[in-house]
Amino acid sequence: LLYNQVQDLKGAIRVYCRVRPFLPGQSNGPSTVDYIGENGDMMIVNPLKHGKDARRVFSFNKVFGTSVTQEQIYADTQSLIRSVLDGYNVCIFAYGQTGSGKTYTMSGPDLTTEETWGVNYRALRDLFHISKERAGSIKYEVFVQMIEIYNEQVRDLLVSDGSNRRLDIRNTSQLNGINVPDAFLVPVTCTQDVLDLMRIGQKNRAVGATALNERSSRSHSVLTVHVRGRELVSNSILRGCLHLVDLAGSERVEKSEAVGERLKEAQHINRSLSALGDVISALAQKSPHIPYRNSKLTQVLQDSLGGHAKTLMFVHINPELNAIGETISTLKFAERVS
Ligand code: ADP
Ligand code: MG
Repeated sequence: LLYNQVQDLKGAIRVYCRVRPFLPGQSNGPSTVDYIGENGDMMIVNPLKHGKDARRVFSFNKVFGTSVTQEQIYADTQSLIRSVLDGYNVCIFAYGQTGSGKTYTMSGPDLTTEETWGVNYRALRDLFHISKERAGSIKYEVFVQMIEIYNEQVRDLLVSDGSNRRLDIRNTSQLNGINVPDAFLVPVTCTQDVLDLMRIGQKNRAVGATALNERSSRSHSVLTVHVRGRELVSNSILRGCLHLVDLAGSERVEKSEAVGERLKEAQHINRSLSALGDVISALAQKSPHIPYRNSKLTQVLQDSLGGHAKTLMFVHINPELNAIGETISTLKFAERVS
């Protein structure tokens, strides 16, 4: 990647939209995605409306249709991984309503076949690959953290004893940009190490799920890869980090439908997703005040949003008719941050 291409991406956010296919056993259309253009345009058709209100065009950096493979989804992300090793901070988000394909994009449907691996594994595979290529000039160390943010509380997903310790966020540039210093920070040397850790993390997420039905869709999971490189000639140190974030489902919950715990969860999710949107759009507008402090999510990611950092957001669309309301609000969110 050329230096000025890197410059171009700096501080900017890229937004990619991915349309999930209809699933086996589901109705097979018609799809609310009427058309996908070459230049990142897409047209949504809303059957509940008539005339010119029924159709709306949205534009993003790219739109991926239903037949796009995991490999193709990842292809443009590779340059971001390289810049982590150059000392940049990078955030990659998956946004969308529950069932729209966030976890499919980030992790994939299962871990056994490399072909269906999601962005997480491909990113780590490349990270190790590139760091080996550079071994003659830079010696890299890689560490992984995995946390979950649920109801505005941060929990370590790599604690295997199932303890529910709440973690503090400290904004400590002294700690090399590690904002959750009490979460396990595990050294890794190969993709297999990371696969093993992610299995632990997923199991720990699932533990919560028995108590709180489908908890994974109501919490944000953040896999953070910290990279430290020492240049062999100059002995200078560079640091970068990569946050891979599978966000909580963005669906709005009707106040009349939700009570008690469910309502509290929904309010926390709505607030943190809008806080994320506020931060990203304030950065895009070069606002003097960036409201990082409004949610745990934006506090955790503070050093990796804005400044020298790079952000990529995959927004996910469920093409079914009954998802049209959420589809439009997802695309409006994406439009606001892009
Ligand atoms: P989310 O994490 O947003 O709740 P999932 O990633 O779990 O959604 O996807 C919901 C279902 O749709 C899963 O069964 C998943 O395997 C399937 N799915 C999602 N995206 C795709 C895709 N691009 N191709 C095939 N199946 C998909
Ligand atoms: Mg999911």
